[in-house]
Amino acid sequence: MKTVIKNGTIINTEGSFIGDILIEDGKIESIGINIDIDNCSVIDAKNKLVLPGGIDVHTHMDLDLGKYRAIDDFYTGTVAAAFGGTTTIVDHIAFGPEGCSLNYMIDKYHELAEGKAVIDYSFHGVFQHVNEEVLKEMEKLVEEGISSFKIYMTYDNRLNDEDILKILIKAKELGAVIAVHAENHGAIQHLREYYSSLGKSKPIYHALSRPDSTEAEAINRMIYLSEIAGCPHLYFVHVSTKKGLDEIISARRRGVKNIYCETCTQYLTLTEERYEDDVDGLKYIMAPPLRKQEDIEALWEGIKSSQVDVIATDHCPFFLEEKMDGKSDFRTAPGGAPGVEERVEIVLSEGLKRGISMETLVDKLMTRPAQIYGLYPRKGAVQVGSDADIIVVAKKDKIITIENRHSSADYTPYEGFKVDYVVEKVIQRGKVLVDNNKFVANKGDGMFLKRSNLCDL
Ligand code: MN
Repeated sequence: MKTVIKNGTIINTEGSFIGDILIEDGKIESIGINIDIDNCSVIDAKNKLVLPGGIDVHTHMDLDLGKYRAIDDFYTGTVAAAFGGTTTIVDHIAFGPEGCSLNYMIDKYHELAEGKAVIDYSFHGVFQHVNEEVLKEMEKLVEEGISSFKIYMTYDNRLNDEDILKILIKAKELGAVIAVHAENHGAIQHLREYYSSLGKSKPIYHALSRPDSTEAEAINRMIYLSEIAGCPHLYFVHVSTKKGLDEIISARRRGVKNIYCETCTQYLTLTEERYEDDVDGLKYIMAPPLRKQEDIEALWEGIKSSQVDVIATDHCPFFLEEKMDGKSDFRTAPGGAPGVEERVEIVLSEGLKRGISMETLVDKLMTRPAQIYGLYPRKGAVQVGSDADIIVVAKKDKIITIENRHSSADYTPYEGFKVDYVVEKVIQRGKVLVDNNKFVANKGDGMFLKRSNLCDL
């Protein structure tokens, strides 16, 4: 079966034009004007925007934290993603039992996702310790299409500088990407205990115990370690502060190569004032915390100037009731919030209001994440030969509210947000998944994506 998407405004990073897209066997067969529609099913996209499917490279579906488990699994989470115009996720996986191999959790995740995900997916590997075996294992995983690995500079499974350096050196050899959660663990621990000793346990102390310098210091240290390792591909997840972004900009200015910067929807739209309500504030407990308006402004500036490469979500929802476990001490609330469904519509709406071009926003939401994580040009662009992952977007108003969400979560951090761009149709490999707010896909429609390692971008 062939499909033609007719008369839409097709937008890619390089520019936009009104035209038709012919889809055959799940791929984009041709793009042009007045494509013949004989024997084709036709999707009329007149006066609509036609974009590549969204790519969210930072989600935590079914994340097992021990006491808590993220409430979206690979089915509900990817249904929510699809409704929001995202057709590919690369999930950050949970830690496994102490001492487990890198492969152990990847195998588990194949089980969690297969037959459930409705959109295409891949996983980042995760390090929880370093020795000869796990470094060796990286080679095998890269061959199997797991070409990126996460490391943490905070939390129980954080790595020390020596271990980080070993990983970076190996990543350089393999062309793998190292994704890093950069926060200074010692400073945060000290501040959390300090505030706790004063009886200060309300949500606002979550932000106060993780000041912007904790992020900036860790980013800075990581960049210097990376230079020592010969500049492998180094990707900072969820950069939330002006100070942190400034470290990345300054490193690039002095010529450090292969650094990438991600931020997330919440750090572009919400401030730490959300923590001022002692109960409601718990909804926004996540790390890093929400920041100040000046950070939001700097991150949008970074998007405009392409110092920020990617906008993701860190989607990791918990029920309100679980978040409320932090009522007497914010430290006991599970960390994370939903967002996979909201990203594309909010970023398009807010970004255009700020004078950022549609092409630039497509780059941050679709193209750049695909390039950095070894999915391009199969994903991330509307071009001949790519998978026909396409979303049709209309310019019209919608209010985001829990009533129109599809995640398992019982709240959205973006309640009451008005968006001006609404995803109407979501197509993956030529198949319609969502049609005007109706879900028409099947559980298990998504497939695992083998990703390539990187040459210099
Ligand atoms: Mn995360």
